[in-house]
Amino acid sequence: MRQSLVVGNWKMNGSVQKNQSLLESLKQGIGSVQQAEVAVCPPFVYLQQVSELLKGTVIAWGGQNLSQQAPGAFTGEVAASMLGDFGCKYVIVGHSERRALYGESDELVAEKFAKAQSVGLIPILCVGELLEQREAGETEKVVKRQLDAVINLQGVGALAKSVIAYEPVWAIGTGKTATPAQAQDVHAFIRGRIAELDTGVAEKVQILYGGSVKGNNAAELFAMTDIDGGLIGGASLKADDFLTICQAGK
Ligand code: PEP
Repeated sequence: MRQSLVVGNWKMNGSVQKNQSLLESLKQGIGSVQQAEVAVCPPFVYLQQVSELLKGTVIAWGGQNLSQQAPGAFTGEVAASMLGDFGCKYVIVGHSERRALYGESDELVAEKFAKAQSVGLIPILCVGELLEQREAGETEKVVKRQLDAVINLQGVGALAKSVIAYEPVWAIGTGKTATPAQAQDVHAFIRGRIAELDTGVAEKVQILYGGSVKGNNAAELFAMTDIDGGLIGGASLKADDFLTICQAGK
C-alpha cells in the first residue's frame, strides 16, 4: 500500500505575512489529516521562513525548481545542495510552466531530476500533455517521452526514490479537471510503462494527479487505484481548501 502525498505548489505567490498566516492555519489543522503526507513548495526566498515555521511538524517542504549545475557562476540559479541546506525534502522538476515558459526540455528536466537525487532530494517529476496533444490522441506518447527521458539518463531504478505528478496541461489553473477515469487511465499507463521495466518500482512509486484539484473533487480523484494524492496549485494557497484536499488522501 503506497502512502498518499499531497503537495502544495505555491508558484510565484506569497508574502512573509501571508505565508505566516497560511502556515499557522495548516499547523493548527494538520491533525485532521489522517492518511496523507503533506508538503508545501514555496518560492525559494521563503524557504528560510517556511523551514523555521514547519520545523518539528509533520509537514514537509520543498523547492519548485533547481539548477542542473553544481554551485558556481550561474547568476540567478539555485543549486540542489542549497535546497538541502534549508531542509527541503522534495523539489518539483519539469512543471509544465517551466517547460512552456522557460523552454525546459525533457533532457534538461532529466538532468535536474538527477541533480536533485544526487543530494538526497526527492524529485517530483511533472509530466502531462497539452490540450491539442490529447485531442490528437497523443497523451500516452507525450507522457512516455517525458518519463523515458529520465529513465534513459538515470535508469528505471531512480524512479523508486521519486514522485511522479501527472498534470494534464489543459487542467492546470483552468478549473477544468480531468475526470477521475481520464486521470486513472493515464496513471495506469505510467505505472504500466514502469512495470515493463521493473515491477517493484512500478508498485512503489507514488503518482500524484494535478490540475484544478479542489476540496470538492479531490476525494473522487484520490479514490482511483493508481492515484496516490495530488499536486495542488491554486487551492494550496487557502488553508481550509488545502486541508480539505489533504483529508481526502487515502
Ligand atoms: C500546479 O500548478 O501544479 C497545479 C496543479 O495548479 P492548479 O491546482 O491551480 O491547477
